[in-house]
Amino acid sequence: MTRSFEYLRPDSIEEAVAMKAEYGDRARFWAGGTDMMLLFKRKKLDLDFCIDLSHIADLRYIDEEDGALRIGAMATLDDLDRASGINAATAALGETSRMMCTKQSRTIATVGGNMCHASPSADLSPPLTALGAQAVIQGPSGERSLPLEQFHKGVNQTDLGDGELLKEIFIPKASGRIAASYNRVARTVVDIALVSSAVCLRLDDGDNIESAGVALGAVAPNVVRVSGAEGVLSGATLEQAANGLAQKAGAESASAARAISDIRASKEYRTDMTAVLTARGVQKCVENLKGLS
Ligand SMILES: Cc1cc2nc3c(=O)[nH]c(=O)nc-3n(C[C@H](O)[C@H](O)[C@H](O)COP(=O)(O)OP(=O)(O)OC[C@H]3O[C@@H](n4cnc5c(N)ncnc54)[C@H](O)[C@@H]3O)c2cc1C
Repeated sequence: MTRSFEYLRPDSIEEAVAMKAEYGDRARFWAGGTDMMLLFKRKKLDLDFCIDLSHIADLRYIDEEDGALRIGAMATLDDLDRASGINAATAALGETSRMMCTKQSRTIATVGGNMCHASPSADLSPPLTALGAQAVIQGPSGERSLPLEQFHKGVNQTDLGDGELLKEIFIPKASGRIAASYNRVARTVVDIALVSSAVCLRLDDGDNIESAGVALGAVAPNVVRVSGAEGVLSGATLEQAANGLAQKAGAESASAARAISDIRASKEYRTDMTAVLTARGVQKCVENLKGLS
């Protein structure tokens, strides 16, 4: 039997942060509850206070400001899907969200919950990391930001301190055109990823790749950023990326993967698939960017 706890319902970010600061690790935030429910069922939750964030309107938004994107922590996966038309980043994130959960769950599961549960297979982590996203954290003494790859500290571990809340995900403006693509392997359409890869290509004013982001999911406790693949693609033309460099970026991904074996897939399978998925991601980005020229 689950033991009882006190349910708290703050109306503002400040109130939620004050509650968490007061109760510390005796309290947990509740966003959409899709991961929390599983923890309850598996009796992995031991808490005295549950702080429901769902009544804080100031946490649910997806806004573009001067080319930068702000995604409130309580934006749902369905909100992400419906925001697909804003720009190239939301197009890739919307496509990713449609791979996740079921339509019903997507209406309650949140972006913040996906980031804060910090599962190695969380589908939004690789594309957000490849897009250069920052985690914006609100604590009792103010706001701070850090790159998403530093926010994730290990399996179900984040950089959040007691009394801190993830407020938003911030994606900085890219100087030129961008394209992003997320690819994953899962056993069924509603299953979590066995292995995944995200690619983001940013062009300069012409058709050269100014910079690239490549991030792998479900191969290690945290998302693996593949600087070798990013280096291979940066400075190349779209033609070079499509003809040979996509495979090179894939090979760099395989050597950076540090894949693990578990009940769901072997290290060898995961490593091989990082190469395939990264090459596929580069090709898709090139096609999208050529379509924009
Ligand atoms: C059937 C099913 C299918 C699923 N499929 C997928 C899938 O395909 N891909 C995938 O990645 N995930 C999947 N998930 C996992 C889950 O749905 C997602 O991770 C979802 O985005 C979690 O969001 P939530 O709002 O429900 O989080 P919650 O369960 O409410 O919270 C998750 C964790 O984050 C903390 N938290 C939430 N918001 C904040 C905040 N703003 N600040 C600080 N801490 C916070 C909570 O305290 C908790 O520890 C699936 C889950 C189920 C049950």
